[in-house]
Amino acid sequence: MNILPLPAFTDNYIWLIEENGKASVVDPGDADVVNNFLKEKDLKLTNILITHHHYDHTGGVQKLKESHECNVYGPYDSPFKGVEIKLKENDKISIHGCSFKIIEVPGHTLDHIAYYSEDQNILFCGDTLFSGGCGRIFEGTPHQMYESLSKLSVLDLSTKIYCTHEYTQSNLNFAIKIEPGNDNLLEYKNKIDEKRSNNEISLPTNLKLEKNINPFLRSHVLEIKENIKDFAKISQPSDLETFSAVRS
Ligand SMILES: [Zn+2]
Repeated sequence: MNILPLPAFTDNYIWLIEENGKASVVDPGDADVVNNFLKEKDLKLTNILITHHHYDHTGGVQKLKESHECNVYGPYDSPFKGVEIKLKENDKISIHGCSFKIIEVPGHTLDHIAYYSEDQNILFCGDTLFSGGCGRIFEGTPHQMYESLSKLSVLDLSTKIYCTHEYTQSNLNFAIKIEPGNDNLLEYKNKIDEKRSNNEISLPTNLKLEKNINPFLRSHVLEIKENIKDFAKISQPSDLETFSAVRS
């Protein structure tokens, strides 16, 4: 099973899963980007996976449905009306013979889900967890987002994380301000700065790395608590209060 990034808009990636001439795409915001690739590689589109309703993740679905016989998987209760196979927590689907479990991760939006394959150590998490950051909280509460990230943080450490935006460099510029004493973070930031200066993609990332560098998975760290205390106006912030302050 190959997983390839199709760059779309200014900083989105539409992830394409390819297996034996068939393909599935995750969050196709732009149909033309997908169609051009399918044509070039002579692939047949069989599935579309949606993580949440935002237009940059769903905008291409209707056009793709018009020219391909494919299933559209997505959140059970989504404002996006194009979902055909509606998924809830712990539902399982098979994509090119690979089983994916659904994890509900509200926060960025209320309908947000992630697709996790334990066999292949793969996570498609849309706009929930980014490398060095996390999605903005548009519809949920900080508490919901914190709980959602906590659910992802207990997956296998080797899990490869396929998020939807190339935000890594700006996330790391922020992270280093929150936790300047983190040597792992500094090392990773230098690596990413070099990759991006060569126009290379920074993704996928993995859970082990993110737990070492991502401030949104590190609300328990004393240095981070110290650095947000004045901003949060709390002398001994809890992990959730720390997370909320960092997100703010
Ligand atoms: Zn979004």
